[in-house]
Amino acid sequence: MLTQECLQDAVKYGECFIKFGKTAEYIPELARVNKYHLGACIVGLDGTVMEYGDTRTPFTIQSISKLASLILAISDRGADYLFHDKVGVEPTGDPFNSIIKLETKTKPFNPFINAGAITVASCIDGKDSDEKFERFLQFIRKVCGNEEIALNEAVYLSEKSTGDRNRALAYYLKASGILEGNVEECLDFYFKMCSVNVTAVDIAQMSAVLANHGACPSTGEVLIEPESAKAIRALMLTCGMYDGSGEFAMTVGFPAKSGVGGGIAAALVDRMGIGVFGPALDEKGNSIGGIKILEYLSKKMDFNLF
Ligand code: GLN
Repeated sequence: MLTQECLQDAVKYGECFIKFGKTAEYIPELARVNKYHLGACIVGLDGTVMEYGDTRTPFTIQSISKLASLILAISDRGADYLFHDKVGVEPTGDPFNSIIKLETKTKPFNPFINAGAITVASCIDGKDSDEKFERFLQFIRKVCGNEEIALNEAVYLSEKSTGDRNRALAYYLKASGILEGNVEECLDFYFKMCSVNVTAVDIAQMSAVLANHGACPSTGEVLIEPESAKAIRALMLTCGMYDGSGEFAMTVGFPAKSGVGGGIAAALVDRMGIGVFGPALDEKGNSIGGIKILEYLSKKMDFNLF
């Protein structure tokens, strides 16, 4: 059985690696975050919460938001249309913000690289970025069980004023007929959804819903269609850690999604949701201490699916 002591040991182990990582310097506001934060939270499918370290420290959700936006787009457009016409479901082996494959293959490889997530963002219903964002916010609050979740204005403005690489991806996708609607509206929504403040507890709650086939563990309410939850877990396993997904599958071995804010959300089907936070990142943009926490838990508790 997983104990508080084991969770504490996992976080202590993760702490040893923080010095080798760096905060996400390409977003000026994220470069200022204290890289020595680290914490982990586990939500069981009976609703119990276990936590250690900086689990209540807010950080921006960044790419973990791509789980929620994909769920919304699937419910708005249907999985068949989305995965046939708009984005693929294959890992790229390239960095998350890479542009290289867009010219050789029109559709982005998967919904979690930036090109794919920006495309998915354009497929969410809403007349403008405010309406899309309002829907996103309502959903993320519900799935994390936290009505207080809100935008981090400073990070949003920082991303918006420096996000030229994402702008380039979006305009390229528009020119190829993949991205729908107004490019700037879509980007504005994308920067906002990435800049929502969450905690390790919040993302552990969301992961527990994914692990519980889409139903909230404490209320039983269905928040995500079971088929969507299954597709999302599969994509997390193959593409959730970007060009580190293969190695993560080998060493940790369960579905997870990272963000450059330092969060990792992991969903262990029929078992638990895990949320970790550690803003020191490795060279692939994944939390360095966070991965080590998950690796420790996986080995100690035999969580590896393979
Ligand atoms: N907002 C970030 C970006 O677009 C998200 C990337 C990430 O978390 N990997 O660059």
